[in-house]
Amino acid sequence: MKNRIYMKFILAYLLFGVLSFIAVATLTSDLTLNHLKEKKAESLYKIGNIIVSKYASGFYKGELPTDNFHNHLEAMGAYLSSTIWIVDSEGKIIISSEEYTDLENPTIINNFDPTISGSSYYQIGNFYGMFRENMLSVMNPITSNYKIKGYLIILTPVSEIVASKDRILNITYYTLAVIFLLSTIIMIAFTFMVYVPIRKITTAANEYAHGNLKYELDIQKEDEIGYLANTLNYMSSELSKSEEYQKKFIANISHDFRSPLTSIKGYIEAIIDGTIPPEMQEKYLNIILFETERLSKLTSSLLTLNDFNTKGGMLEISNFDINSVIKKTASTFEGTCKSKKISIELILTGHHLFVAADMSKIQQVLYNLIDNAIKFSHNNSIIYVETTEKNGKIFVSVKDTGIGIPKDSLKKIWDRFYKTDLSRGKDKKGTGLGLSIVKEIVQAHGENINVISTEGVGSEFIFTLPLSKSLGSDI
Ligand code: ADP
Repeated sequence: MKNRIYMKFILAYLLFGVLSFIAVATLTSDLTLNHLKEKKAESLYKIGNIIVSKYASGFYKGELPTDNFHNHLEAMGAYLSSTIWIVDSEGKIIISSEEYTDLENPTIINNFDPTISGSSYYQIGNFYGMFRENMLSVMNPITSNYKIKGYLIILTPVSEIVASKDRILNITYYTLAVIFLLSTIIMIAFTFMVYVPIRKITTAANEYAHGNLKYELDIQKEDEIGYLANTLNYMSSELSKSEEYQKKFIANISHDFRSPLTSIKGYIEAIIDGTIPPEMQEKYLNIILFETERLSKLTSSLLTLNDFNTKGGMLEISNFDINSVIKKTASTFEGTCKSKKISIELILTGHHLFVAADMSKIQQVLYNLIDNAIKFSHNNSIIYVETTEKNGKIFVSVKDTGIGIPKDSLKKIWDRFYKTDLSRGKDKKGTGLGLSIVKEIVQAHGENINVISTEGVGSEFIFTLPLSKSLGSDI
């Protein structure tokens, strides 16, 4: 399979070259020779006519002396590289362009038959055995007083015509050889420019298909093939990243599930075998409850993220009042706020502020952000939730004066399972999934979320939402 198409192509190309040469050597050769013979015969016949009308008639009428006529024929014969004869009806050669004829003893052409050529005005052959080689002969009758007095015969060797055919054919061979050479160069260029890169791409695609995503495809080209190679390289690097991500993701999930499960198992065993006395059991059952809550939070977060991955963040967009959603969400934290003596201050634009978004998902965003703000705030502090309208967008900000986020963690907080070292002590229940869910939701709306935070001072999370076109704000 490997080289089959390429080999077929090369074979077809070579076959084409060989057949072209054979065609020129046979068909073209024959056609050219026939054409040259006809052209030669035609021109000799025309010249014969001129000689007959200009000189031969005068010769027969006795107006032109034999010597004179012979000299003319000799000159014409040399010019045409041919032999010219004046022959009478019986086949007697009266004058020859090549030698003086012994009129007493003239050469006779045996079996001379002027009608033999029929309608064709030329003949090929040894001319009644008069020549050793093949001659092309053209015969013009000489008439005087409406009677045929004799014939003017021009004979030229066929070998001369063959030689000029060969000269023409040689030019064709050279041209063909140059065309073949040029197409070979084009084919070699094609091999290096198209075939070799495509083979490399095929090999790379095979490697990727067999799981070797680290395989590097080395094609430095600016054309479509280069673009394809770059796309493949990009694809493999993305696949390899996602493979690494999957591994890390599974490792993180396993770790996050294993630690609470281990402690739950340990405490239950200790309760069963009596290591933990009954009076201490309530404390450890509460720890078990805490760990179970953590596991169920982790599971529901994972399910939410999975929904985003599989359904591509399908949203149920409706027009709703973001101000009232903020009020409702903030009120769910009343209990926690009371115990930490934290207050949530709402600075809302307008009485109603309508946005076009998925209400339950935006509620989750607000819940996660306010939950984090409370978790990472000090006791006796204030959390600000603010809405503002700017250029047809609604900006929602959740601001705290808590522990803040270290500069080098700012980019990582959006990663799944990421928790800053600062926060670990403050929030043992945290899964590190909350902000990645928030980001997925905001991005699924085609909106943005940003964080401004200073370690030890506090954090502010701001996200945008599209203002509802039909309702807008109601100040
Ligand atoms: P978690 O469930 O741990 O809160 P998140 O994804 O919501 O997970 O947050 C990731 C990490 O970002 C947190 O563990 C914390 O380190 C940091 N973080 C998030 N919000 C705040 C905040 N308001 N103040 C300080 N740190 C924060």
